[in-house]
Amino acid sequence: MSRGAAAPRRVVLLGATGSIGRQACDVIRRYPDHFRLVGVVGGSDAAALSAVIDEFRVQRSALAAAPAGSRLPEGCGGGLEAACEVAAMDSDVVCVAITGAAALRPTLAAIDAGRVVATATKEVLVMAGDLVRRRATAAGARLVPIDSEHSALWQCLRGEDVATVKRLVLTASGGPFRNRAPETLSVVTPAEALRHPTWVMGPKVTIDSATMMNKGLEILEAHFLFGVDYARIEVAIHPDSVVHSYVEFWDGAIVAQLGAPDMRVPIALALSDGARLPGVGNTLELRGSRPIEVLPVNLERFPAVAVARRAGERGGVAPAALNAANEVAVAAFLAGTCRFDEIVPTVASAMDAAPDVPRPSLDDILDADSSAREHARVRLTSGAPLA
Ligand code: MG
Repeated sequence: MSRGAAAPRRVVLLGATGSIGRQACDVIRRYPDHFRLVGVVGGSDAAALSAVIDEFRVQRSALAAAPAGSRLPEGCGGGLEAACEVAAMDSDVVCVAITGAAALRPTLAAIDAGRVVATATKEVLVMAGDLVRRRATAAGARLVPIDSEHSALWQCLRGEDVATVKRLVLTASGGPFRNRAPETLSVVTPAEALRHPTWVMGPKVTIDSATMMNKGLEILEAHFLFGVDYARIEVAIHPDSVVHSYVEFWDGAIVAQLGAPDMRVPIALALSDGARLPGVGNTLELRGSRPIEVLPVNLERFPAVAVARRAGERGGVAPAALNAANEVAVAAFLAGTCRFDEIVPTVASAMDAAPDVPRPSLDDILDADSSAREHARVRLTSGAPLA
């Protein structure tokens, strides 16, 4: 059936109740002529998912991690299989906003169904980038970035040949500890680390920003999204989060994307597959604004960037191990059982212990994921000395 140009795009939203999911709902609510929410997947919060289903009169829904014995909203499926079915249902765009490795199988379901996949979940590309790309090519699916830096690069690269790219430069705010003495990082509390200076985000990505593992993961995300080799992907500190990333081309031109930090802008752009909607975010006034400050990254203060790059260059299952150990260490830090300055050494140790597996299958990736989680847990509970 052909759909008229004026028909709203049918959106499936995976991770509807998290930080990005709520902002995606906000965009859909504000642009009813452009978007219609037809499927939603939540994690474990039945009440929050119920509210979304009722407000948007969503046809199909699932709670991926429904707690045993919980009462599901009427017609809502429970478990991972049900979540994958919603991910693959007929739609114009599938928005992936589930945090971490839990997004892998629903994302693959959407890809195998040949959908346009607007993804905010960098962990999926980090752990299974090659596999995701191969399956997307096979099924005719397309990935569109929501992550602000990658949305910026996507905008800068539109109509360009990536062979002419000299460098992609991912900007980073530097998080709350950009200027803190490294020897004091052992006593950082979760509350301090959750206080991000410029962006309002979920807890996982906020802690990743404080360690700068987030920027390390984003190097891998950029590699898989844009097909640019690691030698041409760099990171710079830009404390104001106004330049969302930039591209240097081989003729000397630099193209940057600027704007006020507001995730609704990249979300709306991705949901509409690149069309610009009026008035999504506030305009940034450049006249009279502060000079744009761009600084090199201190890799001694932020070793996570180099550890992640090393995982990307190793390839195989090393990135999956990196991601899994990081999820465990961040969760332990938030729970008070891992010191802030233990997060990155724990991740590096698990990544170094991962086997070399060229061209890994999904099973290889899932095996590496669980081994690295175990490695990180053992290391954190045995109180191994810092490397
Ligand atoms: Mg980002």
